[in-house]
Amino acid sequence: MQLTDSVSTLPFVGESYQKKLNKLGITTIFDLLHHIPHRYLDFSKVTKIKNIKVGETITVLGKVTSIKNQATKSGKLMQIGQIEDETGKIYIIWFNQHFLTKMLYPGVELAVSGQTSWFNKNIAFFSPQFEKINNSGETVHTGKIVGVYPATGGLSSKWLKARINFALKKLSINDFLDKDITNKYNIYGFNEALTKIHFPKNFEEAEKAKERLSLNEFIKIIRESKKRKEKVKNKKGIKFVVDKKKINEFIKSLPFELTKAQHEVIDEAISDLNKNIPMNRLLQGDVGSGKTIIAIVLSYIAFLNGYQSVILAPTQILAGQHYDTFKRLLPKINISLVTAVNSQQSTAKSHIVIGTHSLLNQGFEKVGLLVIDEQHKFGVNQINFLQKKRPHTLTMTATPIPRTIAKTLYSDMDVSILDEMPKNRQKVTTWLVPNEKRSASYEWIREQMRQHKSQAFIVCPLVEDSENETLKDVKSVKKEFLNLKSIFIDQKLGLLHGKLKSDEKAKVLNEFKEGKIDVLVSTPVVEVGIDVPNATIIVIEAADRFGLATLHQLRGRIGRGEKKSYCLLYTENDSEKTKKRLTALTKISSGFELAELDLKLRGAGEVLGIKQHGAGELKIANWSQTKIIELAKTITG
Ligand code: ADP
Ligand code: MG
Repeated sequence: MQLTDSVSTLPFVGESYQKKLNKLGITTIFDLLHHIPHRYLDFSKVTKIKNIKVGETITVLGKVTSIKNQATKSGKLMQIGQIEDETGKIYIIWFNQHFLTKMLYPGVELAVSGQTSWFNKNIAFFSPQFEKINNSGETVHTGKIVGVYPATGGLSSKWLKARINFALKKLSINDFLDKDITNKYNIYGFNEALTKIHFPKNFEEAEKAKERLSLNEFIKIIRESKKRKEKVKNKKGIKFVVDKKKINEFIKSLPFELTKAQHEVIDEAISDLNKNIPMNRLLQGDVGSGKTIIAIVLSYIAFLNGYQSVILAPTQILAGQHYDTFKRLLPKINISLVTAVNSQQSTAKSHIVIGTHSLLNQGFEKVGLLVIDEQHKFGVNQINFLQKKRPHTLTMTATPIPRTIAKTLYSDMDVSILDEMPKNRQKVTTWLVPNEKRSASYEWIREQMRQHKSQAFIVCPLVEDSENETLKDVKSVKKEFLNLKSIFIDQKLGLLHGKLKSDEKAKVLNEFKEGKIDVLVSTPVVEVGIDVPNATIIVIEAADRFGLATLHQLRGRIGRGEKKSYCLLYTENDSEKTKKRLTALTKISSGFELAELDLKLRGAGEVLGIKQHGAGELKIANWSQTKIIELAKTITG
């Protein structure tokens, strides 16, 4: 049996089981074996019945002496029986599994594992794990460390384990790492790791197995990015001539002076454009660090070279905003906007095409530059086809990615960092507002807005953990909107959510930009890129529901002008962990520092938006495994 074989080659996996497995994302033997326990129960302690203490988690080996169905007071059907060994008897009890009375008839040799508790005045196992002892005496579900699977989608954990056990026995795999290497770094062979992740003898074995499987994932990511790099290397790109004088003139004409960091990044990019291999550069810069202008300067260079630029933005709002900015700073250039509402736009004559993924349906003649803003919002494949034309590509992100991760995930890209804020920026003051001060804080907000003629965002979270807004979310934000209307009586309130039609969205947003709306109540759709310098306050409801990186992004909506800005975090969750996370936000203002911290506190990559990166999807590994990441780098050379 091979890892690439379909699960249907396993005994007892017919069409219906196959469907259930598919639902768990399992189609091949590889998938099955990488569906790993998320925790383990220690059933390794085998005890004689007379020595059992209540509350212990143990395994007993014995013979069934009786079992029957019995109704409980609450109308459940209870299966109650006993097993005995040479030292005594103990009760075994289940609920609503009437078939057990047929399966576990008196005389059956059984291993039973679980935690013991009181049953009237006797000791009993309630709903224990069990299995019949066969001739070999070997057990899979009891008497050892036993894996618990995160989701079984209607398949019993027992059934799943039996399939896994079978597959492991029949499997033949070639480890892609040599024995020399696994020995040298004291890591498991692939085969050994797969066996021990499911059936470890102790926790150390499980841990070591996980390390090896994690290593595999990191190695895969690194190798893929190396492959991408190799591919581009051999491809010819478009060599731009850069007219330094014209560029400098343009930069001088801007309404503000570029920061040193912006100058440096532009120089780095220019040296890429000057080569005949396509630029592949990742620009990381905190919210508000001024990434847009970099894209504008590069687009101008493309224009001077007679090439089109394509600017891809994740939302209509943002595309529209970029369109306005580009038009303002490059008034003589033909620029078009393509979103779902005007997807039929002809772009043939445009020097710069700005839009959402709707523009990916367009045919382009002469794309010389591709700028992807907030790249984690796009699927890798969506963009691939544009890159077939081998344009220079600048990927911009405000999602700060810790260095170790960036280097692994994007080892095929050159990375530029905007680590300096424009001069006029003030640090945003962030408070974690205790619940008893909520109404006082509303009063304070009203006063601030009155005094400074400034505006505020109030962000409500999505009701359910999902990428997209649901009707439920809209309902809840509408409800909050009405509530807030009764609090901010003198102010004009606006409501923004993802289910509004795009012209309605644009209308609300424009009114907010023009100061006709004082308080903008919204779902997190405002997360990316809205630029309203007069908004100086942001209130984030249920802040515990957001990752630090997202909170930081939201906070980046304010502090964009000359006025002092404030971020107020509300939460009903008073766990220590939440407090620690949110307090960090009140103290740290650098997105990169926060990302590193989030990695430490939460350990997972998903808070950083890395999960959506396609390339970076980890099933078993975790971005906080710095040692394993280092090892993967060493091994891949
Ligand atoms: P982000 O990096 O979040 O995309 P933007 O490019 O939207 O940031 O820039 C945020 C704001 O800062 C915009 O209003 C922009 O005009 C302004 N800005 C950019 N660079 C500078 C600078 N060097 N000096 C002053 N303001 C700047
Ligand atoms: Mg931006």
